[in-house]
Amino acid sequence: MNVDSIQNGIVIDHITEGMGLRLYQMLELDKGEKSGSVALLQSLKSGKYGRKDLIKIEGEAIPPRISILGYIDPQITVNMIRDGRIIRKESTVLPKRLVNVIRCTNPRCITSTEAGCDHIFNLTHSGRYRCIYCNAEFHSAASK
Ligand SMILES: [Zn+2]
Repeated sequence: MNVDSIQNGIVIDHITEGMGLRLYQMLELDKGEKSGSVALLQSLKSGKYGRKDLIKIEGEAIPPRISILGYIDPQITVNMIRDGRIIRKESTVLPKRLVNVIRCTNPRCITSTEAGCDHIFNLTHSGRYRCIYCNAEFHSAASK
């Protein structure tokens, strides 16, 4: 795969340096059927802002978990490429639902007591996430 340019696909740009591999895994790009090649580029020079990671995905298919990008790294932009040109640049938004991205910490929640239960959170009007099973609000480690 030519990593300099792709004809059709998407480029996930402005990933915080060092986050590329984690995103690659969270998007499950290493699993399932692939219609095209995927390239993870790390520590690219990015103008005066230092360095960034970047993921290129060739092909028509958009990863089903792409919406989690807005939660993980809001700086990211997603470029849609058609016929070798960027036809659309999208900044990410907070996804309405997170599945198996964050975990409920309520010890009485079904996700804590039942193994193999999906951890599902919905975005509330206040911009926070609540567990769909026990309604507990998610607090990230940073906000404690
Ligand atoms: Zn819960």
